[in-house]
Amino acid sequence: MSTIDYDKLYIGGEWRAPAGSARIDVRAAATEEIIGSVPEGAEGDIDAAVDAARRAFDGPDAWGSWEPARRQEALHRFADELEKRAGETAARVAQQNGMPIVVAEQFESAFPPLLLRYYSQLVVDQGEERRPGMLGGSSVIRREPIGVVGAIVPWNVPQGITFLKLAPALASGCTVVLKPAPETVLDAFLMAEAALAAGLPEGVLNVVPGGRELGAYLVEHPGVDKVSFTGSTAAGRAIAETCGRLLRPVTLELGGKSAAIVLDDADLLGNIESFFASTLLNNGQICWLGTRVLAPQSRYDEVVDTISGLASNLVIGDPLERTTQIGPLVSQRQRERVESYIAKGSSDGGRLTAGGGRPADRDRGWFVQPTVFADVDPNHTIAQEEIFGPVLAVIPYRDEEEAVRIANDTDYGLGGSVWTADPERGEAFARKVRTGTIGLNHYVNDPTAPFGGIKSSGMGRELGPEGLVAFQNLKTIYLPPAAAN
Ligand code: NAD
Repeated sequence: MSTIDYDKLYIGGEWRAPAGSARIDVRAAATEEIIGSVPEGAEGDIDAAVDAARRAFDGPDAWGSWEPARRQEALHRFADELEKRAGETAARVAQQNGMPIVVAEQFESAFPPLLLRYYSQLVVDQGEERRPGMLGGSSVIRREPIGVVGAIVPWNVPQGITFLKLAPALASGCTVVLKPAPETVLDAFLMAEAALAAGLPEGVLNVVPGGRELGAYLVEHPGVDKVSFTGSTAAGRAIAETCGRLLRPVTLELGGKSAAIVLDDADLLGNIESFFASTLLNNGQICWLGTRVLAPQSRYDEVVDTISGLASNLVIGDPLERTTQIGPLVSQRQRERVESYIAKGSSDGGRLTAGGGRPADRDRGWFVQPTVFADVDPNHTIAQEEIFGPVLAVIPYRDEEEAVRIANDTDYGLGGSVWTADPERGEAFARKVRTGTIGLNHYVNDPTAPFGGIKSSGMGRELGPEGLVAFQNLKTIYLPPAAAN
């Protein structure tokens, strides 16, 4: 089998020889075989990438000084080039992290060009505001690009998450050094090919893959003006400490343990596809999934049966197959982590009602069966800690008041969903849940609305016009009364 191998890094608008000789091998989650390799970035590569991004930001004909409409043209070309590679992008992601291909086609191939077009138009529309003052003069309020952005992303939705940062950053006029996660680098290199083919000016986008030390080096780099991070809460805390010391603006999208709250009038079977997408999508490897299912005591057995039936009947298979609903986890390490939580769920007294092991017909690949525990106490480890695998904990509740209390009894606050036949009741309930986002009978990150978390789930927002704010400095020019008109 041929592998996908690169020997250069995309820095300063060209493919450059890396500073070191180390390499990253990438394995297919479904076969455990090596499917490609890339150079591992070293500190010297980050230096070169930040330098290139700096020059693209500060130098002559700076990206941020272009009229928004001119940047829009360039970003439309980038979107077009990504679309030409859509099939290959989805396939690379599916192979690397186990994401079912039909999900990858949406999150990894369709979403990035859509975001580029959305944000470049928003910036064109934003313009410059002139505001009459109260003291005789007026003010010009400008939104200026914040500068060089260090963007660090995880492996679970690598392209989708990359473009939550790249699209608003590039549209605003920022330049970017991207550090993808080592598990998913092949898609990032394909994206770099698209950027080059689109003729993005040199240094506007640079890609340096590596692990956490390299990420920490980028966060601290004196040439970086802003850090945008998505990943675990532990890493987010470390990054926030560094950025606090440096007074460097930072956006953090971190972990979650969201609640899917089933009200006593819910038609769960009638909404089962949405329920699956809100709780078990991408093999449980999404930060906002509702992995704590709150079920009313009045319908408890029926809800447990419905969810257990759903989990038991999902099609587990090769992520490249269009019928696959559950693929493998990203790595052996991730599977061990998920399996240790399953063991803890049992030893803490949870009642296993679906899954709990590896699928019998798969002897290769890091597969775990979709797993459901019933009778979980809200204080159990599997009800409090993020598992990041296909494991649901069903927790009974007496009345709505108790459901709200359990839903809010968590360190996290990222997603959530409410399931009910009565939209008004559902919305009223959703208002009481302390979280950054919550869905009614579905959960979809619409590009037009802000997404992000509270508490240990992060700081700041991505998506929507609010997602631009993170990449812009507000500047006020006070005009004297004479110039007011
Ligand atoms: P991780 O934090 O280990 O790694 C994420 C990225 O950060 C990787 O590129 C890694 O190399 C880098 N990194 C790790 N430690 C770093 C440090 N100290 N300084 C700089 N960079 C560092 O997370 P992971 O295991 O790859 O991803 C899973 C986690 O990401 C889960 O906790 C999940 O909830 C979270 N996540 C959050 C969101 C969101 O939008 N809130 C989205 C997806 C994933």
